[in-house]
Amino acid sequence: MRRIVIAGNWKMHKTQADSLAFLNGFLPQLETTPEQREVILCSPFTALTSLSKTLHGSRAMVGAQNIHWETSGAYTGEVSGEMLTELGVRYVIVGHSERRQYFGETDKTVNLRLKAAQASGLTPILCVGETKEQRDAGETETHVVGQIEKALAGVDQSKLIIAYEPIWAIGTGDTCASDEANRVCWLIRSQLANKDVPIQYGGSVKPGNVDEIMAQPDIDGALVGGASLEAETFARIVNYV
Ligand code: PGA
Repeated sequence: MRRIVIAGNWKMHKTQADSLAFLNGFLPQLETTPEQREVILCSPFTALTSLSKTLHGSRAMVGAQNIHWETSGAYTGEVSGEMLTELGVRYVIVGHSERRQYFGETDKTVNLRLKAAQASGLTPILCVGETKEQRDAGETETHVVGQIEKALAGVDQSKLIIAYEPIWAIGTGDTCASDEANRVCWLIRSQLANKDVPIQYGGSVKPGNVDEIMAQPDIDGALVGGASLEAETFARIVNYV
């Protein structure tokens, strides 16, 4: 049985106060969440400490949205794995398409960040996915397989989560058809040495489509952006049927 992992990616949203207000509404709704579902909230760095304190002993765990690959040094503005684990952070998103698009993230730096995350005891959530142009050109498979190969060189597959996020479906309301998403997740799994790595789908997941997405045999969870910002909405996703 593979693990089911539902993660919220808050991106650059929520102050500490906003985060705590979210938890007030969200945590009581986790009481009925099936035991085997892992629930992760990935907040901005600035809210990690409050999240971690408030979530201590609860069902939900804390994730960061980025990590630097060096352990310390003259890297202004960066945060290391040890700095995250000290706060109680257990997961970290690596290689999100927004970081690849706006912040110069490459397959090489994704690989370095994955290794750094694992070396400091964090479980990375590796994001891969194609653009609309690549999809229209029929390049989804080759692109995603290439991203996986480069990202995972020398990476331990026993402590890893992968999120397939077609870029054209992120924040657009335009979800990938669940059978198409499943096919790409299956393809990703076929490339892995460890077939038990949880593979999430991400891209406009919401209460109205989560049940269908989660019913797919090769989709083991969801990485949720916009719909993770509101407690009721995200609780509905986490408690999908
Ligand atoms: P979305 O974002 O759910 O708002 O499409 C998903 C993501 O970027 O991880």
